Amino acid sequence: MSSSRALRGIVAIACAGAFGLGLTVPAAAAPTTDPSDDSSAELQRALRSGRPLLGWRIALDPGHNGGNADDPAAINQLVSDGRGDLKPCNTVGTSTTSGYAEHEFNFDVAQRLTAQLERLGATVVSTREDDDGVGPCVDVRGRFAEDTDADLMVSIHANGSVDTSTEGFFVIVADPAISDSQGAPSLALAEDLIDALAGGGFTPSTAVDDALSMRSDLATLNFARRPAVLLELGEMRNPGDAAVMETAEGRQEYADAIAAGILEWTQDRKPQE
Ligand SMILES: [Zn+2]
Repeated sequence: MSSSRALRGIVAIACAGAFGLGLTVPAAAAPTTDPSDDSSAELQRALRSGRPLLGWRIALDPGHNGGNADDPAAINQLVSDGRGDLKPCNTVGTSTTSGYAEHEFNFDVAQRLTAQLERLGATVVSTREDDDGVGPCVDVRGRFAEDTDADLMVSIHANGSVDTSTEGFFVIVADPAISDSQGAPSLALAEDLIDALAGGGFTPSTAVDDALSMRSDLATLNFARRPAVLLELGEMRNPGDAAVMETAEGRQEYADAIAAGILEWTQDRKPQE
């Protein structure tokens, strides 16, 4: 990681903090101030207490799992893709050329992101609690936010393009949408995360236009009935991206940027009743 990237990361964290406390109070004070509305009053208290995500329930999905490679029978079983076709339960994921595995990266970023979101007041649930199990299958991951009554889900991955010159992050949403949550709300969440990652100093994908990918084949997104996006945080085969992913500081910067993007998306929304 370059020192300029580190500096931009620090600036982004500072901006996120100032933004959270500075912009959110007037934004939330305007629309609903009915004192009989408990959830609104709770949100107001949350903002005053500096915990702007209080009341939000956020599902994280660290992609793949550390035990997947040792259990091909389990992860190769076919499950629904959520659109009438079948696909494998789960996959092994990619790795950097030095052998740092995607499942480990995804899980570490999710752990750091969990801590950051909880600091902001959110309740966080995760599709997996460790990095040495198998699965869960992608259909289970896709249903997870609804099953756990979460307000949104962010699935955390890294990409493994064969062309090692391909670099940068991109965000995937389900398309065409087959539920209300897969349309505008998920697209807005994707845009806020793209802005936050770019603002955190990360390079938008050199292979995906505007760092936004619309796909119909991902069960993790197809099954979602809450706003959901899948992040490909960088290219593990690209030396520059890999160097950032392999450091704790780099992973913390990813987590901070994702937290800022989630915070931004919640600004003019309320958690579900
Ligand atoms: Zn992945």
